[in-house]
Amino acid sequence: MLPQTCHPGALAARGERLCGALPVKDLRRLASAVDRVEGPVRVELEFGRDDSGLASIRGRLESPVRLTCQRCLEPLDLVLRVEVDVLVVPSQRKSEWRGQAREVVHVQDDSLPLHEMIEDELLLSLPMHPVHRRDRCAPPLGPPLPKGDTAPSPPSPFAALADLDNSVAN
Ligand SMILES: [Zn+2]
Repeated sequence: MLPQTCHPGALAARGERLCGALPVKDLRRLASAVDRVEGPVRVELEFGRDDSGLASIRGRLESPVRLTCQRCLEPLDLVLRVEVDVLVVPSQRKSEWRGQAREVVHVQDDSLPLHEMIEDELLLSLPMHPVHRRDRCAPPLGPPLPKGDTAPSPPSPFAALADLDNSVAN
């Protein structure tokens, strides 16, 4: 089982790995952002030290979810995959690490809310505009038009000109 909270500094000192699964019931925020969380999140995280001596976390997350395709409105099953690569910075040293290219998490007293961080990473990885692949997507066709009827075409901007021409000719 993955601990709710972990101590990255201590884990990094021992070069530890955390592997496990996060059950669906612990993923309330993710569950409210998707149609359904289809299974537990698989987690593999390795703790190490950065060149600067700070703890770093590298690894991956995988979570199967169901969304709605924004093109055909049918269910869209996909697996969210996140590569984790974050630097663990103590809150009191926050200012030193502002504007870093690397992703940073802040901890107080070497205590990191692990479940929360995992859920944050997954939420950030959600596609803004989820759609099926083109060949798997079937947008619904509009209702067929009655025979002999055609959709009204927008008025031509030249229609008014044609009227004008006629009035001049007369
Ligand atoms: Zn679709």
